[in-house]
Amino acid sequence: MFEYAPAPESRDVVDIKPSYQLFVGGEWVDSQGENRHKTINPASEEVLAEVSWATEEDVDRAVRAARKAFGPWSAMPGSERAKYLFRIARIIQERSRELAVLETLDNGKPIRESRDVDLPLVAAHFFYYAGWADKLAYAGHGPDPRPLGVAGQVIPWNFPLLMLAWKIAPALACGNTVVLKPAETTPLTALLFAEICRQADLPPGVVNIVTGAGETGAALVNHPDVDKVAFTGSTEVGRMIARSVAGSGKKVTLELGGKAANIVFDDAALDQAVEGVVNGIFFNQGHVCCAGSRLLVQESVADELLDALKRRLATLRLGDPLDKNTDIGAINSAAQLAKIRELSDLGEVEGAERWSPECPLPDRGFWFPPTIFTGVAQSHRIAREEVFGPVLSVLTFRTPAEAVEKANNTPFGLSAGVWTEKGSRILWMADRLRAGVVWANTFNRFDPASPFGGYKESGYGREGGRHGLEAYLDV
Ligand code: NAD
Repeated sequence: MFEYAPAPESRDVVDIKPSYQLFVGGEWVDSQGENRHKTINPASEEVLAEVSWATEEDVDRAVRAARKAFGPWSAMPGSERAKYLFRIARIIQERSRELAVLETLDNGKPIRESRDVDLPLVAAHFFYYAGWADKLAYAGHGPDPRPLGVAGQVIPWNFPLLMLAWKIAPALACGNTVVLKPAETTPLTALLFAEICRQADLPPGVVNIVTGAGETGAALVNHPDVDKVAFTGSTEVGRMIARSVAGSGKKVTLELGGKAANIVFDDAALDQAVEGVVNGIFFNQGHVCCAGSRLLVQESVADELLDALKRRLATLRLGDPLDKNTDIGAINSAAQLAKIRELSDLGEVEGAERWSPECPLPDRGFWFPPTIFTGVAQSHRIAREEVFGPVLSVLTFRTPAEAVEKANNTPFGLSAGVWTEKGSRILWMADRLRAGVVWANTFNRFDPASPFGGYKESGYGREGGRHGLEAYLDV
């Protein structure tokens, strides 16, 4: 760790209410149930606000509001719907500082990331799909594609607002209406987004936000009047949802977990590769479905790369997420921290060697230091299971074929990275890697125009780009 001058962002730019209702039919409404939940700042364990725990009746009310809004919304010319989406995108830009601070407070991610990565991507997503709203006939899904109806959308806590944008922007552009449930630990930016819908004069019922935990999510995806289910989250819950909606006729997309290989060849620009490996696994504390959690490095440069990586890790700053200098923020919840600890301890028990830079952790809140495991075997659980934390497993390979074999030796297939100066090798690898995204000489790059989604247990369907429209249209 080295000395630096703290540069805290002001939390006063955001006005957090002590308690929140549900957003249904364009109004703030009380839940029918008594259950409330406190959402906390994971960096300090301070209570931020209380939110409602929506019941089955609440979900039914939200679905009915979405159904009522569907007729007029879907009949509106695409160019009119586009105006609302453009308006929402512009308000997000205008209020992006407020949204970024709120996201950092509720999630624990560094403000540098919420400000410079999440928020620009959120706005870009609404701009991008606004552009499609009046061009659906040219999207490649036939001359007269129709919206599906009411979409029930359930999202995780790692990119709360960005996952909301991935779900809501294409759904609305295509003429669907939505009921969205944010994750229980990060509901606040979705609730601020509800306010933005009002500010944009979005017709009541087009967007409805119900807060709650798994039961609320289950009530939503199983509601008989929901036509389309869009889920992002763990493979375990994704599997449950796939089973429970099977045979219902609902269209389903699932964006699930990952265990991506970040593959470094001996001819790579190693300085760049080190940055790419750090970004691949320590961005957002490793709470990234496509995180490069397995480093596959060619044997001849393994020692050199690891030395450089350790030197780089020693410069990372862990601490107050609102400090603009912070690289590594807080773990989102006590439960997630316990899971990361459990899998990391198991890594040692299974015989891998654990290393972290000297890294004092704050007294309060949920923290885990950036961690590297070497001597990892493919059979180790840290090499197979998603840790969803700042933990990198290092494996080596000798030949490109061995790199492909090891990279594909996983139940997941969301993303992969390749670091080499040889263009032909990039294409050879990309052809053989079983992953929805393959990055070359970069990692964790996103663009609203580019489809994203997985193979195998990483789920099915694509979000983003022209392909992302398909999930919300009937041909
Ligand atoms: P999770 O599956 O525990 O929860 C996700 C959401 O589902 C939450 O809103 C939760 O309340 C809800 N939920 C829980 N049980 C449910 C049920 N039975 N029915 C309906 N909804 C239910 O996942 P998480 O811990 O919030 O998120 C982390 C996971 O998300 C990781 O596995 C990560 O890889 C994955 N993820 C995937 C992508 C992607 O695009 N593929 C993106 C982000 C996160």
